[in-house]
Amino acid sequence: MKITFLGGAGEVTGSCYLVETAHTRFLVDCGMFQGGREAGPKNRARFAFDPRAVDFVLLTHAHIDHSGLLPRLAAEGFHGPIYATAATCDLLQVMLLDSAHIQEKEAEWQRGPGKGGAPLYTVAQAEHALKQLKPIAYDTEIHPHASVRSIYRDAGHILGSAIIEVWVAADGRNRKIVFSGDLGQPMRPIVRDPAVVTGADVLLVESTYGNRLHKTMAETLNELEHAIVDTLKRKGGNVIVPAFAVGRTQELLYLLIDLYRKQRLPAMDIYVDSPMAMRATEITLRHGSLLDTESANLMQWMRKKHDGLHINFVQDVEESIALHRIKSGAVIISASGMCDAGRIKYHLQHNLGRPECTILITGFQAAGTLGRRIVDGAKEVRIFDTKVPVRADVYTLGGLSAHADQAALLGWLGHFKQAPQRTFIVHGEQLTAELFADMLRQRLGWHNVSVPQRHASVTI
Ligand code: ZN
Repeated sequence: MKITFLGGAGEVTGSCYLVETAHTRFLVDCGMFQGGREAGPKNRARFAFDPRAVDFVLLTHAHIDHSGLLPRLAAEGFHGPIYATAATCDLLQVMLLDSAHIQEKEAEWQRGPGKGGAPLYTVAQAEHALKQLKPIAYDTEIHPHASVRSIYRDAGHILGSAIIEVWVAADGRNRKIVFSGDLGQPMRPIVRDPAVVTGADVLLVESTYGNRLHKTMAETLNELEHAIVDTLKRKGGNVIVPAFAVGRTQELLYLLIDLYRKQRLPAMDIYVDSPMAMRATEITLRHGSLLDTESANLMQWMRKKHDGLHINFVQDVEESIALHRIKSGAVIISASGMCDAGRIKYHLQHNLGRPECTILITGFQAAGTLGRRIVDGAKEVRIFDTKVPVRADVYTLGGLSAHADQAALLGWLGHFKQAPQRTFIVHGEQLTAELFADMLRQRLGWHNVSVPQRHASVTI
């Protein structure tokens, strides 16, 4: 049996692992590379395998850095099934089409009048790939090939996310490989805690935050409460919240409603101004049985009317524009999460220059984005070719992360009854992954731990 690390090796994006035996060949994830100048060429590079020869794909979750190259894979001849949880399949309908739409727009923009250059993939190609999805349930055995069986376990990262256990029969042996996928931080809203796994012959584990600890939820809630109470009650302005449409927006809604229920927040109008966030929230509610107990309870509470708390989902552009006239008392959650596209840019344009308003940063801001400039303390930023002074307060909510921190990763690995024969640290920056590998050797006494390089193959 051979495993090849095609992405998510020494880096956090582009997750893709190829498993080959004498009988079958399959992929786990087929993600897009994101961020940095090399991402574009890496996404366009020839696949290191023949897509027509891949029998099936096992998909851990809907995030684009795990799923984003599926349309290209299908366009280049992959005809097999893509196994994913039902919630992941629903989210992909939104996310892959959105991704394809962005690819088309970017190609158009770069091409200019009369020039060549095709998008990475088109909306039609994404629609084609979506037809290959096979929705499956958690904790239920599937048989994607005569020599392979698999069970998806809840990874607690985003809705539908999975840890994938795979048993592969080859060379007269039957071995178990565990792909952690992206693991969630325990005790976080909406999703459940990551499922316990107690053993594997071969383990691929993520290490995004293998080098740090998150702030506690209690600290995060205090910060959130302070930012909102101070803005709405003392300063009398609006709170503008850039947030990723899938995951982070739903998590924020949960926290805001919960704080209001506990009488820690005043009356407020919450506007969710992102059509994609609205669809992602609908999908989350549709999969209510996957939510953790606290979220289910809160949902019960929400079904009753509560004066003072109004949650409005904004779909039309006209409604979105109307929000620009609101001067105080509003919490506006909008995308994109890094402020570099979408409706959030208009809300920043109208509120950033007002000292009575607050910008609440809730997620990672990559270098070069408008969000990063705001976080880094710019006195003035450029939005749609106009200069906007930064006079609003800027708060950064540090404790929200969809990824397990170092302690939570070690906690999850601590359930293994014995060390896997081989452990590969993936989905982390090179130095973080190496540091985390050392930690496994020292703390858990696991010796066969390595950080694979991109394109490396191992025969097991
Ligand atoms: Zn993810």
